[in-house]
Amino acid sequence: MTHLLHRSTRIQPRRAVAAQGLTITDSEGRDYIDACGGAAVSCLGHGHPEVIAALHRQADTVAYAHTGFFTTEAAEALGDRLVADAPDGIGHAYLVSGGSEAVEAALKLARQYATERGEDGRRHVIARRQSYHGNTLGALAAGGNEWRRAQFRPLLMETHHIAPCFAYREQEEGESEAEYAARAAGELEAKIRELGPESVLAFVAEPVVGATAGAVPPVGDYFKRIREICDRHGVLLILDEVMCGMGRTGTLHACEQEGIAPDLMTVAKGLGGGYQPIGAVLLSQKIFDAISGGSGFFQHGHTYMGHPMAAAAALAVQEVIARDDLLANVREMGGHLRDRLTEGFGAHPHVGDIRGRGLFQAIELVADRETKAPFDPGLKLHARIKAAAMEEGLMVYPMGGTIDGVRGDHVLLAPPFIVERADIDRIVARLGRAVDHALGEIA
Ligand code: PLP
Repeated sequence: MTHLLHRSTRIQPRRAVAAQGLTITDSEGRDYIDACGGAAVSCLGHGHPEVIAALHRQADTVAYAHTGFFTTEAAEALGDRLVADAPDGIGHAYLVSGGSEAVEAALKLARQYATERGEDGRRHVIARRQSYHGNTLGALAAGGNEWRRAQFRPLLMETHHIAPCFAYREQEEGESEAEYAARAAGELEAKIRELGPESVLAFVAEPVVGATAGAVPPVGDYFKRIREICDRHGVLLILDEVMCGMGRTGTLHACEQEGIAPDLMTVAKGLGGGYQPIGAVLLSQKIFDAISGGSGFFQHGHTYMGHPMAAAAALAVQEVIARDDLLANVREMGGHLRDRLTEGFGAHPHVGDIRGRGLFQAIELVADRETKAPFDPGLKLHARIKAAAMEEGLMVYPMGGTIDGVRGDHVLLAPPFIVERADIDRIVARLGRAVDHALGEIA
């Protein structure tokens, strides 16, 4: 028994003692295929020698230097790299220690942009139900998952939520994809008008929704419309690519596939691939210019921002991904994963939807395929699948329950970008057995 506090007081996680490539080994000598990168983090797999060597080199030079006194070569190089590869208009990168910190910083940068321009009235943040933006109070306020928010509600800043773009659940019978995309985006226009356009600060969205809904991609020209609505009303567009970004969907940024660029973007998980905790906010030149031409000081900071060890790890991860053209593998293996999931689950009586982009794919489980009725959340099917998968030696990322719009259990797969065909075949075979086992328990 340990005094280390785990998130659950009832379940003691297994102890990991080794990790290499796609495999994590526990203290009892059992191997698990990491088919979800933890939480879509381990994009290069585990124990990559070049990343470890970069960490050693950095530790031997400057392990830590406070940004109030110094910058470092590693942090500058990472900032430059992130901006060079960023969508149009992005001019600067702000390095923090994770996804929630990045979202907090983005929200504060948005507010500071407004106040520096004399637009004090802009304070409302709009986000989408069925989104997750992090667990700190500001990020939690932006997120739309009631299960995570309910207990803390009195402490959360007031945000406004519109429907997500979630075709499987929300597209109506007889409605074309284009009509549905227009209707879903129209919710933003309506909400901005309801609140008063000059009072709205920002709209926050994950281009491909991750943790709360399981790899839900947008349809049609949804995001082009969103971009256009934000521009028309002077509302900043914050894209949260903490989970779906940094190559996970087959392009470096998921928004590239939507043909739009944000005003602010958050990235984290795949940035450092889990070798160090790191996140970043990418901000457009116009935001930088407003602050630089105004107070000249971003009113936000953390002790570990721009941490050289984290920056060195992220740089090494990103260099290996680019050098080995791993995004091509994400696209190819993503296609193979989708094919295998379709073969394995396409006709399954309890799999209602298979969706995703690149190596970010999910299946949604339903009690009835015809009506799309979810299983009773009390059955905790997703948790049963996770447990059964671990017995099979497989790590997957299931979530679910019927919680304010999160209808149905789903299982998210996000294997490292180095995954090969044979690994995917093994992953899908094991997942099939785990799903059947869990369904057998509740039958
Ligand atoms: N934003 C999104 C889209 C996420 O998926 C997450 C984490 O899952 C976060 C923010 C929060 O990131 P972190 O857990 O690193 O604080």
